[in-house]
Amino acid sequence: MGSQLIREWTGIQRFPLATQSKLLDSLGILKNQSVSSLTILVVGKGGVGKSSTVNSILGERALPVGAFQSETQRPVMVSRSTAGFTLNVVDTPGLVEGGYVNGRMVETIKSRFLLNKTVDILLYVDRLDTYRVDSLDKQVVQAITESFGKDIWKRALVVLTHAQLLPPDGLEYDVFSSKRSEALLKVVRSGARIKKQDAWASGIPVALVENGGICNKNDNDEQVLPSGIAWISNVVRNIVDVALNGNKGILVDKKLVEGANPDRRWKEFIPFIFAFQYFLVVKPIERAIKKDMEMEVRPSWDATRRGF
Ligand code: GDP
Ligand code: MG
Repeated sequence: MGSQLIREWTGIQRFPLATQSKLLDSLGILKNQSVSSLTILVVGKGGVGKSSTVNSILGERALPVGAFQSETQRPVMVSRSTAGFTLNVVDTPGLVEGGYVNGRMVETIKSRFLLNKTVDILLYVDRLDTYRVDSLDKQVVQAITESFGKDIWKRALVVLTHAQLLPPDGLEYDVFSSKRSEALLKVVRSGARIKKQDAWASGIPVALVENGGICNKNDNDEQVLPSGIAWISNVVRNIVDVALNGNKGILVDKKLVEGANPDRRWKEFIPFIFAFQYFLVVKPIERAIKKDMEMEVRPSWDATRRGF
């Protein structure tokens, strides 16, 4: 299951010529940096448009998509190759079910699809047209952080779907989308326990996507969002930027599969910290108290005085 056949990325040819040439430019940038493959892990709540986004990027219906949770409830890997470059995408169902993180699912993703591979990009998908973040968002972020480590967010691209919309309350499109992005990034930062001082965390890029085919088109026949952005080539460009942002991808080695989260390794030292405290802090204090008690001159009315 993990080693799926790598097929030719023929979907590229279905895009308008302008998009095709921008995609090839992006792949050329990777090639210049000797990057010949990328592995993308796609996560997010159920029904937000994860599989649809992958299909949009591939230019074909490679993954089942469903409005009523009819899609298969297991992770899937699709690989497409073109001009010496291979794109691997691991699409996942919602990682949180009934309020709980589906630990087995996360394990399957790691051991069956990603073992000894590097996650180059984490695509965190949600909807643009949602006005509030809920506890599920935070749980998904926590589940990812817990199983891949905090540094995976240095390789993250947030994707907001349903981006062809008219903002509420007369808000301008750009104002609305940056407000929604910021609200979501806040959840990511708190769910992943990223410190405010960590400047990179506020720089996690956000790309807008419209999978519904209801976009306007520009003169080159490309689908554009209300902001005027041709979004397919833009999201691919964002992926390439993240891949080359200087941070390391997350290698899924045996240790990571077995659950040794790099952020938690320090916890192995807890017994030592306690021992250290006991011998170097508690013991001396006890000794000092004992000594004080021995030295103490007690008042004559104190019946507990020894020697009387
Ligand atoms: P997943 O569970 O996150 O993989 O979500 P799917 O990709 O299966 O999408 C769920 C439903 O939302 C499907 O009916 C899609 O057609 C629809 N959908 C996904 N993305 C968009 C989008 O950007 N715009 C619109 N209008 N519909 C979308
Ligand atoms: Mg899906």
